Amino acid sequence: MDFTEHVAKRLLSRHGITTPASILLAADWPITDLARAIATFEGRPVAVKAQVPAGGRGKAGGVVLTADPLSTITQMGGNKLGDHTINQILVEEQVDITHELYLAIAVDGSSGGPLLMFSSEGGVDIESSNTPLTTMTLPIGASPDASELAAVLADAGCPQPVDEVAAVAARLFDAFVDADAELLEINPLAITAKGNVVAVDGKLTVDDSAVGRQEKLAAQSSAPPVTGLEAKAAEHDLRFIELDGSVGVLANGAGLTMTTMDAITHYGGRPANFLEIGGDAYTLAVPALEVVLANPKVRSLIVNFCGAFARCDVMTGGVIDAWKTLEPDIPVFFSIHGTGMDEARDMVRRELGAEPFEYMDDAIRAAVAAATNGDSLPSDSVSNDSLSNKTNDSGAQS
Ligand code: GDP
Ligand code: MN
Repeated sequence: MDFTEHVAKRLLSRHGITTPASILLAADWPITDLARAIATFEGRPVAVKAQVPAGGRGKAGGVVLTADPLSTITQMGGNKLGDHTINQILVEEQVDITHELYLAIAVDGSSGGPLLMFSSEGGVDIESSNTPLTTMTLPIGASPDASELAAVLADAGCPQPVDEVAAVAARLFDAFVDADAELLEINPLAITAKGNVVAVDGKLTVDDSAVGRQEKLAAQSSAPPVTGLEAKAAEHDLRFIELDGSVGVLANGAGLTMTTMDAITHYGGRPANFLEIGGDAYTLAVPALEVVLANPKVRSLIVNFCGAFARCDVMTGGVIDAWKTLEPDIPVFFSIHGTGMDEARDMVRRELGAEPFEYMDDAIRAAVAAATNGDSLPSDSVSNDSLSNKTNDSGAQS
């Protein structure tokens, strides 16, 4: 689970790390409410910050330093930053930064425990910086020793006040453990003109398996943007991604689905979705088909099954039941191979009056042709045999 800056900063603040005075605004507030809210800063310079769960906002115009925030806020609100629409804006008292540090704790892939990461040169250019990150493996059960932290930080070129930065690192560890975090990052951790240490940014990723015991945090997580269809699919635990094309895809297993999508593209079509169905998911054939077909861009459907442990006849049975329930008005093309394929192909012939294709390529080419040409198939695109793949009166084949 990913979180926006203000959620991360609230966690930091709860653990005694200084963050700037701030207010959180909803972009759709009436302008009078926005004006009243920012009046609390009494004209002092502020940072106006788009709350989207992505980094690099500074370079993309999502962080604006200004003494006149109202116009910035109204401009920023509702705009897109990358894939994310800006619905919330954090306005913060500007920090007088003299030095930017990088400080983070992440789960270390090799040890499985927390790893402290530090650079004396933090800020927006951290990725291209020549200063290497200093890392330190932290204990799992106990808090790290503050003087040990201070020694490591000093060695890594941390400017004064080192002890205060070490204290922030120790608090960061507590916050990291408290939140079941995978990553808790402060970039920049600023040293101010007055010598204070302030978290100017915050990034938090929480372990997905900790949702159960992080209910309060989970409620504030920023899920990636989903379409209505994707949300409906998620209700059924189907992994579905809506795409721009017109060929609906139903295949078993993520690998075969990707292969099918690639082949669609190879033959000049465009897939309308990614959807994983198969194995146990055959019982979900009705919601799966519903989701695929509810996409108005879909003009043909390719069903591509390759049976191994998951039997083709079982999966195909689910699709046929769903097809009869939904009676979709588009042509469907079957490619069925592997365990249970003879039974499955017979079912398609018997129940839908369609002829499954001998080769996956031909099935996919036919689906592409049907989606792109509407009513006619180029004569060279499929074998004659395949042209009998007709499922209903409005089917694309003749
Ligand atoms: P990010 O680009 O998404 O990581 O957003 P940040 O919150 O890190 O902001 C980008 C950069 O803007 C920071 O690295 C700072 O250099 C700068 N910045 C942000 N807030 C302030 C502030 O209050 N004062 C000053 N001087 N700079 C700021
Ligand atoms: Mn940052």
